[in-house]
Amino acid sequence: MVTVEAAKKIIAKHINPLGKETVPLQECRGRFLAENILASFPMPRFDNSAMDGFAVRAADTIGSTKEDPVSLKLIGGIAAGEPGDLRLAKGECVQCMTGAPVPDGADAVVMVEDSSGYDNGDTIKIFLETKPGRHIRYKGEEIEEGATLIMQNEVITPAELGTMATFGYGEAQVYRNPRIALFATGDELVEPGRRLEPGEIYNSNLFVLSDLTTKQGANIMMHETIADDPNALKLFLSRALKECDVIISSGGVSMGKYDYVREIFSELGVEEHFWKVSQKPGKPLFFGTNSDTLIFGLPGNPVSCFIGFMEWVWPVLNMIMGGRDQELIPAILTTTFPRDRYKTRFLFGKAWFQEGHLVCAPSSKVGSHMLSSSLNANCIIRTDPGDSHLSAGRSVQLRILPWKPIT
Ligand code: AMP
Ligand code: MG
Repeated sequence: MVTVEAAKKIIAKHINPLGKETVPLQECRGRFLAENILASFPMPRFDNSAMDGFAVRAADTIGSTKEDPVSLKLIGGIAAGEPGDLRLAKGECVQCMTGAPVPDGADAVVMVEDSSGYDNGDTIKIFLETKPGRHIRYKGEEIEEGATLIMQNEVITPAELGTMATFGYGEAQVYRNPRIALFATGDELVEPGRRLEPGEIYNSNLFVLSDLTTKQGANIMMHETIADDPNALKLFLSRALKECDVIISSGGVSMGKYDYVREIFSELGVEEHFWKVSQKPGKPLFFGTNSDTLIFGLPGNPVSCFIGFMEWVWPVLNMIMGGRDQELIPAILTTTFPRDRYKTRFLFGKAWFQEGHLVCAPSSKVGSHMLSSSLNANCIIRTDPGDSHLSAGRSVQLRILPWKPIT
């Protein structure tokens, strides 16, 4: 049996980011960048108007008021998207819409609301005195040409997508998505929607694993419920080992008479790096490799399986896809936490802000078979081994479940 820390170190030695690929911007969401994104031009790319109105020479508006307006000669108009090759002389103005290039000779824009308005002939009255630079967005004021906009390994969210689009990137280099094989094993498993016979249970783990894998953005290539039957397991696994980057299983990896998974892994040439981890729940956790394929055998108990994925598989998927492991965050217990004397303990919990501090409470259901402990949870609480229970007021570490906000 290895400690959680030792097991993490073993895994770290065997994981590398997958290869890179160039994909259209439309397919970049949720992916991790495999290149730095640079500003291909300054932003703004040219001096342009921040308002709909009139480009003017500020000096021409000195002393102007609503009661005693200055009159300027309108010499043309520029809409957004037009090149704007007009030149403004003393006493002149140009109709200039938001985003349109500011014409040469102008050094300010007056909002249409502060003028006699459009379509009033060739003489425009200006109702206020403006200053040089007013309502002009200057070339390069936001970003210089060549600046690094987004660093490699950043996840692509709406902000990154928008920024890449702003600078004209039609595609980007990202890390390849992992190909995943998922399976649950157990003679007792029945798919939801079917009728249960005595002794049978519904297969919940495969739903949890599928959703978690999809949330990570990985591609599920193979997905099956398999009986406790060595031949059926062998058939599935020999194909998965050839075609997938990561194999994730639930059940059949413990000490039971019909737990064949570990034996079949070994028969198929999987190198075992550890099997049991000093943690509760989920002690019989298997990790192995076969050339570049990573294999995680999670226990079948539903909480062990769910928490096992979040603690062991989720960070690995994140890292091979080019991301970073999520930091655990400290929070203060509001109730007692049943720490384990010898093992690292994980429980689903709820975290929230109380008087500006992050606090949390574990689920009162602590059995590894009690999946309802995951309902309403927005975090997994982790404690190191220790002699006595941790009381309210003590600090613990949280892994936030990223799809459930802290409220
Ligand atoms: P095992 O790890 O195969 O020994 O299973 C441990 C416990 O988890 C048993 O009570 C199983 O019935 C249960 N279990 C195994 N697989 C699943 C599954 N896919 N969904 C729900 N419960 C499961
Ligand atoms: Mg079983």
